Amino acid sequence: MQVIIPETCCHCGTPLQGDERSVCVACMAHLPYTRNAVVVENATERCFAGFLPIKAAASLLYFDSISASRSIIHEIKYRGNESLAFEMGVMLGRELSDAGRFSDVDAVLPVPLHKRRLRRRGYNQSELIAQGVASVLKVNVLSGVVDRVGHTNTQTQLDREQRFENMQGVFAVTNPLALSGLHVLIVDDVITTGATVASCAAAVFAVGGVNISVASLALAVSSH
Ligand SMILES: [Zn+2]
Repeated sequence: MQVIIPETCCHCGTPLQGDERSVCVACMAHLPYTRNAVVVENATERCFAGFLPIKAAASLLYFDSISASRSIIHEIKYRGNESLAFEMGVMLGRELSDAGRFSDVDAVLPVPLHKRRLRRRGYNQSELIAQGVASVLKVNVLSGVVDRVGHTNTQTQLDREQRFENMQGVFAVTNPLALSGLHVLIVDDVITTGATVASCAAAVFAVGGVNISVASLALAVSSH
């Protein structure tokens, strides 16, 4: 994969200076940080309430199109900006580490991409974010443990419960022994309805004896 390091801020276009990388200092300062890692029953956790016994969940940013939030996700997801993905993962990891509620996480599990999509894109953006998180929490990133075996259909017409049902059977655990007895932190780039992460979590819960927490780089606040 070709690594693209932009010379101007990916959001406002200002030439980058000093040790600024990808995003200028001003845009970084104005990001919509959720600061929700310390908050019990926060907006990220409410995505899963009533469906799955997630231990704790947090997001670094709100996803919006006004701040650099969407530009950052775009850089990471579609432009192959690996270093930005890792750096944002480190920032997320620090929030989790400072919050204390994630201190007993044993391993980080990035939400896997379907093999075909992985081939087309060349990398899994959630894995890059997960590596940043794991480096702060000083734990391993699990890979080859869960496969994405199905595709997600367009979910915009579905209500909350239908979205969760629609995600059943999308993920399959291929190495249950690697998960057994662990507190696993599932990491995704953007949580919109929570259905994708919930489906991945449901597959992991089925292993038994597993605790699950969730972290995402961004949280799209929706109407559910
Ligand atoms: Zn900027």
